[in-house]
Amino acid sequence: MRKAVVNVCRLILAVAFILSGFVKAVDPLGTQYKIHDYLGAWGLASVVPDFMTLSASVVQSSAEFFLGICLLFAIRRRLVSLIVMILMVVMTLLTLWLAVANPISDCGCFGDALVLTNWQTFWKNVVLLAAAVIVWRYPLDMGRIISRSNQWIVMNYSAFFILVIIAGRSLYTLPQFDFRPYHIGTNLREGWQRMIDGEESPYAEFFIESTEESEDITQQVLDNEGYTFLMVSPHLEQADDSQFDALNRIYEYSQEHGYPFYSLTASGQRGITRWQDITGAEYPFCLTDETTLKTVIRSNPGMLLLKDGVIIRKWSHNALPTAEEMSQPLEESELGQLPSDNVASKILWILTWFVLPLVLLTVADRLWAWSRWIRKNKNNPLNNEQKIMRKKIVAGNWKMNMNLQDGIALAKELNETLKADKPNCGVVICTPFIHLASIAQFLDQDIIGLGAENCADKEKGAFTGEVSAEMVKSTGAQYVILGHSERREYYKETPEILKEKVLLAQKNDLKVIFCIGESLEEREAGKQNEVVKAELEGSVFNLSEEDFRKIVIAYEPIWAIGTGKTATAEQAEEIHAYIRSIIAEKYGQAVADDTTILYGGSCKASNAPELFAKPDIDGGLIGGASLKAADFKGIIDAWKK
Ligand code: PEP
Repeated sequence: MRKAVVNVCRLILAVAFILSGFVKAVDPLGTQYKIHDYLGAWGLASVVPDFMTLSASVVQSSAEFFLGICLLFAIRRRLVSLIVMILMVVMTLLTLWLAVANPISDCGCFGDALVLTNWQTFWKNVVLLAAAVIVWRYPLDMGRIISRSNQWIVMNYSAFFILVIIAGRSLYTLPQFDFRPYHIGTNLREGWQRMIDGEESPYAEFFIESTEESEDITQQVLDNEGYTFLMVSPHLEQADDSQFDALNRIYEYSQEHGYPFYSLTASGQRGITRWQDITGAEYPFCLTDETTLKTVIRSNPGMLLLKDGVIIRKWSHNALPTAEEMSQPLEESELGQLPSDNVASKILWILTWFVLPLVLLTVADRLWAWSRWIRKNKNNPLNNEQKIMRKKIVAGNWKMNMNLQDGIALAKELNETLKADKPNCGVVICTPFIHLASIAQFLDQDIIGLGAENCADKEKGAFTGEVSAEMVKSTGAQYVILGHSERREYYKETPEILKEKVLLAQKNDLKVIFCIGESLEEREAGKQNEVVKAELEGSVFNLSEEDFRKIVIAYEPIWAIGTGKTATAEQAEEIHAYIRSIIAEKYGQAVADDTTILYGGSCKASNAPELFAKPDIDGGLIGGASLKAADFKGIIDAWKK
């Protein structure tokens, strides 16, 4: 249930971040204008230079998109969920201020694609913040859809896509998706007429005033039948003059074929004269509102082509029509028609070049993981639930024995021995912490699982000398022994402490071998059932069925550990059957039937066959006899008898 909630939250956040990042990255100049608006509200607009606001626009939008992709693919779950949570706290506070003080009418969360009121934005952020807190609290509950080894491909591909293909290309040419009321296909004449008729229209600020006659010629320009070129430059002083030849060529072409050509700007006469001096421009200049011009086209200068009042083409100064393209009159050339690429074809392009490669990568990754899982299960009875109902396991507990070199030598010997003579059961070795990373390097974990003998009851922090579950997992180990009687007795580990340890181990995907068992006095007082029940209830019966299924129980009568005294096979079977019955009471018979219950306590090659022959004994947790490869192998081979 918790996992489902976390994953729903993660998907909501991923979609919101991807969409919001994408629509901003597709229009970096629009996002820059919005950042400028915010700076204006704080009185900083003139302090921060344009290149900084533009860089901030690209970085912000790309980062949002990238975080959304990381959430979707559950990449770097802890770090990403922390960053997202911090971002959402900041954004929620910022939008609360926006809603209350109202310095800007639209926060710009989704660029021009979706305009929300400030209060709508605030409430949207409250919902996203709640989702971000849940995901941040349980980051590891986010299910991975691609293995760690392939995550770098997703990260690099997504970063390249959003930075270069979307933001970079939009900056160099024009936004691939235009959400503003001046996109290609817009009937400006009709829209403007509606405004004149008093209807609500986004063209209220659109006017064209001739600088020569100082009169409004909007109607005249829009009513022109046929083609009209409009050069647009909000500020001629800041306009890129590198393409002045191409602009002059378009003007000459318009004159040659009788198409009206106007240059619209918000600059004054000085700016116009300067531009004329630099570029030799002979075209007429008209005045228009600055913000409107910035909205019309995201290029300074940019070029528009109208046909019967409809915008049919838009060009950035970096991609103006070539002389070749203008070799024929517009009526006869492709230039004079609406472009063939529409919104649907652009979406298809993104699906083909961004979404599809990631889907194919994910499918290939899953197939690879699946085939690995099948291969592993074939070789490893530990995981083979179909062939053997319950997993049979022989696990070694090295305790505080062997230095690193001796431990590596023993693990290598076992590795070679069991590779040559495959076991009939799952085999695990639980070693001191310091051995884990070295042994994980060479151990064939399809045959021998690796585990720790303990882990901390705290996630991380100032707990000198402790080793966390996450650290254990990071060595390559898959198991951890918890609740061993020696830890309960010498290190005073209480059921509450063990409960925390179990939760942390599972949170870090470690399989827990949970030890229970009574002391000699308790056995003599006939309290063994009571004791093991209390131990289960105290530390693992709080788990959900799904999580309990991942636990291996080890029954170890304390009086038999390291003493040479073994419980008789009958004694052991009796209490194993009892343990299974209380599991059945708690989780149902099916779970009880599937739970592996190991026996531990002076188990050797000589007594293992008799013990393992009992119906409720599914293997052993072996201390002393796991320290020599031959002894341990003798016990493992009990499953072959
Ligand atoms: C143990 O401590 O887990 C154990 C079973 O030890 P031994 O086999 O040495 O009794």
